[in-house]
Amino acid sequence: MTTTPSPLDRHAEQYVRLVLSLGLHDADYVDAFYGPAQWQADIAAEQPSLPDITVRAQTLLDTLRGISVAGPDPMNLLRLHYLVRQVSALISRARQLQGAHYAFDEEALALYDVTPPTYPEEHFADVVEEIGGLLPGSGTVQERFEEFKHHFIIPPDRVGRVFDAAIEEGRKRSAAHLTLPQGETFSVEFVTGKPWSGYNWYKGNATSVIQVNVDFPITIDRAVDLACHEGYPGHHVYNSMLERELAQSRGWKEFTVYALFSPQSLIAEGTANFGIEMAFPGQERVPFERDVLFPLAGLDPAHAAYYYRVHALVQRLAYAGNEAARRYLEGSITRTEAAAWLAQYALMSPDRAMQRTHFFDKYRTYVINYNLGQDLVQRSIERQGGTPENPERRWKLFAALLSSPRIPSAL
Ligand SMILES: [Zn+2]
Repeated sequence: MTTTPSPLDRHAEQYVRLVLSLGLHDADYVDAFYGPAQWQADIAAEQPSLPDITVRAQTLLDTLRGISVAGPDPMNLLRLHYLVRQVSALISRARQLQGAHYAFDEEALALYDVTPPTYPEEHFADVVEEIGGLLPGSGTVQERFEEFKHHFIIPPDRVGRVFDAAIEEGRKRSAAHLTLPQGETFSVEFVTGKPWSGYNWYKGNATSVIQVNVDFPITIDRAVDLACHEGYPGHHVYNSMLERELAQSRGWKEFTVYALFSPQSLIAEGTANFGIEMAFPGQERVPFERDVLFPLAGLDPAHAAYYYRVHALVQRLAYAGNEAARRYLEGSITRTEAAAWLAQYALMSPDRAMQRTHFFDKYRTYVINYNLGQDLVQRSIERQGGTPENPERRWKLFAALLSSPRIPSAL
């Protein structure tokens, strides 16, 4: 496709330069960049200060707000809205790095364009009790859950082949509905000492490096979760579709950079998490686990259905992590109390819960992007007719989300 230059292109370049500039002050901010190397060299030479970045971003935002786009292609309006919201989040992050304080919900709105729901303690207590009803033994539900999980750990020497099989299946299922970019590929690395459990580092040219944290024993559910969330049809596919459809086909340079603390992350994590359900809808996961992954992991296939009955309930505790983060980051509970809350209501082991509090320190309200992102993506797709009964429409809407500029408040 030939690209027609747009007045937005110049502003898009400014946006990329601002993201790279903020990256000088926040090592986690630039999650990926595969645009012109000269821009990065310019920024490195200039070393703009945080106040400079804030002023420039505000000027860009004012300019963008004064622009109206016309024409038949609705993508141009999505592009403008995306740039406006990304720049406004960049200003908030720059202010935060200069000492501005945001309450949890304020920060979520400023950076991710959403207001997370709040759940009372009893909500989680009820789900925990229901899970307890499925778990044998004595002790707290968390202790019994820990004991239960022990029977579903992939032996370390089998992790590689189990992951390979899950990735292969995720790819096959995604490729049946999406035209994956030619030559797309990724490598998997096993790492330790990270506050996250998996990470996709997008390198451009349809290539990713996926890192898996092996600090803790890996239970069988992690194979499909990781294959789909980080790989197919999650982050790897999302990034490579944006590259092909927007950065290359349309020449939209703003998609050559990915600002981590920005609204784009809610779409990225939301589509990655929902990608698990896209690849393995409804009851399709258990037969694959039972017939393929459990045998590869040396686990008893007869227990697959039981494992995923418990797993589905545990998923409903995801928002307990948001509450722990909210209370901890706002200072109403200590780190130890946050870890205890995570053990009680998210059923994390004590050491895993402590690791999670370090994730809160580093990524703060980013935690909402996973569960709220997933729910918003699912609701948006289903509201438009992409229900489980209509898989063709579901995939079409999902593909559109992966290859167009979106902001969370417009989902
Ligand atoms: Zn992710």
